[in-house]
Amino acid sequence: MGEYLLVIDEGTTSTRAMLFRPDGACMASEAAPLTQSYPRPGWVEHDAAEIWRKSLRVAGAMVAQAGGPERIAAIGITNQRETVVFWDRETGEPLAPAIVWQDRRTADICRDLAENGHEGIVQERTGLLLDPYFSGSKIGWAMREWPQLTQAGDRLAVGTVESWLVWKLTEGLHLTDATNASRTALMDVRSGGWDPELCDLFGAPRGALPDIIDCAGQFGTTRAFGPPIPICGLAGDQQAASIGQACLRPGETKATFGTGAFILTHTGAQLLPSDHRLLSTIAWRIGGETAYALEGSVFVAGSLVQWLRDGLKLIDSAPETEALAREVPDNGGVYLVPALSGLGAPHWRPEARAAISGLTFSATRAHVARAALEAQSYQAHDLKRAFASDGQDWRTLRIDGGMVANDWMAQDLADMLGVTVERPRFAETTALGAAMLAGLGCGLFASLEEASAMRGDVERFEPRIGEDERAARLAGWAEAVRKVLP
Ligand code: ADP
Repeated sequence: MGEYLLVIDEGTTSTRAMLFRPDGACMASEAAPLTQSYPRPGWVEHDAAEIWRKSLRVAGAMVAQAGGPERIAAIGITNQRETVVFWDRETGEPLAPAIVWQDRRTADICRDLAENGHEGIVQERTGLLLDPYFSGSKIGWAMREWPQLTQAGDRLAVGTVESWLVWKLTEGLHLTDATNASRTALMDVRSGGWDPELCDLFGAPRGALPDIIDCAGQFGTTRAFGPPIPICGLAGDQQAASIGQACLRPGETKATFGTGAFILTHTGAQLLPSDHRLLSTIAWRIGGETAYALEGSVFVAGSLVQWLRDGLKLIDSAPETEALAREVPDNGGVYLVPALSGLGAPHWRPEARAAISGLTFSATRAHVARAALEAQSYQAHDLKRAFASDGQDWRTLRIDGGMVANDWMAQDLADMLGVTVERPRFAETTALGAAMLAGLGCGLFASLEEASAMRGDVERFEPRIGEDERAARLAGWAEAVRKVLP
């Protein structure tokens, strides 16, 4: 067996490949940016052909670094969840743009379904809510609006991004893992299979969907790089990050601050329904056993900083926000509610729009940058309250994602949440989780516990502010949120 684990981490803004040793050392990595298309306000699309081409290229670079396919024990794949791809089984080519998780085009459809009383069944069976975020309404929309999909008949294949990559890598296996399937709103997360009634409700063609499998195992082999390499790990990016952060026991919680922010608390073998508009979702399925998590999904996190850079041209680079935040003693009363694509958990208001409030003549770009970072802590705080109300309060928070390189933000999270915040020294926990699953699937590890030794040291941030300051800031935030939620 080869000595390396190869991970393909197909994210929203880039696709990456990494080469791990089973002790957790990351030996090499390669990334390629992905084109974001915004054809209309609220619409976000990707080109699935580009995703495949670039994923193949970066993975090929890692195979070369390893010294050839025979040096690789297994491949693990992790991906942006909910994004849907439509392709032709005969040609293996996409039939339409991929509709990205951030896309809000089905907001009206979801609202109508909710108004007609369908949210109960969706929540009960899928653990999700009626929101355009999840794949089901996107698939139904595409079936109605893009005639080439119905015209393709039995040749049509529909899947999330890991399905698409597995299809291309194996030249024709149509699979999805339980974590990705759990984000479609088409899966009954209690039974683990597609739900025909939900497929009908959203208008998703059951026959075009992949088979649902475990997250670790021998799923198939790829000859894309020459001699065969087995594909042994699959998980959606947030579930992979949760595994990479070794959140393996009930109560253990991680927060990933990338394009969006996603906080998952492991809840064990029982599905825990939320009474506070959080999502109940599958943490992993291994050996046919399902573990569950409670999730708070925030749509805008790092993308807010990107917008300050590219939209407002207020900063030249994302890391500059840290120096700017330190430049001012406080936020000066400025709050930024980052509802640039609606508000996710716990509000779920796709129609909400962002606002910067509390501006005076003394406000500077430093205040706005600081408000953008503070917004991350406030959103996390609102989620913590919802988790606590569901009986799942956080004792510590394990953070990762591109944004947490920002030391000021990591400290502010600890301050506002009032808990210890842990940041692993190796920040690529999503890829690490996929490597752990691949290692488990190919037999390098006997269990996830054993695989979790791949996670290395952590840095800790302790709360440093007083209750009064915290309460005053939270009151300012609550007032700002009220202004955008009529
Ligand atoms: P994804 O995996 O969702 O594509 P990443 O985890 O790579 O995203 O995180 C990238 C995001 O983090 C970008 O949106 C960027 O604006 C933000 N970011 C990166 N570095 C910093 C920083 N030092 N401070 C604040 N935000 C940052």
